[in-house]
Amino acid sequence: MSSWKDNIRKVVPYVPGEQPKIKNIVKLNTNECPYPPSPAVEKAIAEQSKNDLRKYPSITCGELKTALEKIYPVTDDMLFLGNGSDEVLALCFMTYFNSSKPVLFPDITYSFYDVWCDLYNIRYTRVPLDEGFKIRPEDYYGENGGIIIANPNAPTSIYMPLESITDILDHNRDVIVIIDEAYIDFGGISAVSLLEKYDNLVVVQTFSKSRALAGIRVGYAMANKELIAALEAVKNSFNSYTINSLSLAAATAAANDTVYWQDCCSKIKVTRERLIQQLDALGFDTLPSSANFIFTSNKNINAKELFEYLRKSGIIVRYFDKPRINDRLRITVGTDEETDKLIACIKSYLSK
Ligand code: PMP
Repeated sequence: MSSWKDNIRKVVPYVPGEQPKIKNIVKLNTNECPYPPSPAVEKAIAEQSKNDLRKYPSITCGELKTALEKIYPVTDDMLFLGNGSDEVLALCFMTYFNSSKPVLFPDITYSFYDVWCDLYNIRYTRVPLDEGFKIRPEDYYGENGGIIIANPNAPTSIYMPLESITDILDHNRDVIVIIDEAYIDFGGISAVSLLEKYDNLVVVQTFSKSRALAGIRVGYAMANKELIAALEAVKNSFNSYTINSLSLAAATAAANDTVYWQDCCSKIKVTRERLIQQLDALGFDTLPSSANFIFTSNKNINAKELFEYLRKSGIIVRYFDKPRINDRLRITVGTDEETDKLIACIKSYLSK
């Protein structure tokens, strides 16, 4: 007998890192910024909440686009804004990956990519990273239905230089190539400068990491106007108002405060190098990081055991029980104080 259960979409969802509500926890598991957002953000939200929340938010998001255009070489029609880069990416998958050939992405990368493929019935192939966890551009020369690459990659933290992205683009003029730059501000050079040359390139960024606004959920895509128009059409067939007024005000204030933003990134980079050095001294092997997190292992330590020990001690990092990476921990770069606590806790584990 048939049942309504037969007609339900069954999916295995992406599982984000936990957000525990425990006081005084050192939270280094979801790559949030350890510093508050620009002081201009609080003011902008307060101002906006005095304004008319009765009304729908702006459809054009003009002020935020203007702020972004001061930073990136794009115009209004080359910008698409969404409710976090997760939503922007989900809409990109729906809009751009409609081939019968498989979409390509690395075997070790952001684990939302295969979830979106499954959700939309997009075929995909996971391309293995090399032994050093690097992407080999030549592995992306074959026929495919599109490519998505996180740069820097997550959870590896490794940055792929622009020449390699150009190489991939040169071999893939007939499909869309998405570069997910969630972590680009911590050490890489954005592929946004390549938009002029490549009409099949989409660059996606977020306010969640370097601008310390994971809670307001704003992300954006930059691409040629035809691609952006296609993305807008899909979005407008789904939800006309993806970004609320308070988030728009907050993101605009953050985008305009470039000095604060760059200062935040610099502080995180300094702490990251100190963290890597201290881990080196304790026998850890850490991949070269261009992100606000590191990916580290120690051949004398069971990563899962250390993860659990840290957790019991009030420090949450990320452990992935997956082939090739189950001997490593992904650790978000926190404040200097949080880093000191982490190192002290690892030392106490080692001295057990
Ligand atoms: N891309 C990558 C590689 C990420 O790690 C994340 C954060 N989980 C995102 C995109 C999405 O970030 P957000 O939706 O907060 O913009």
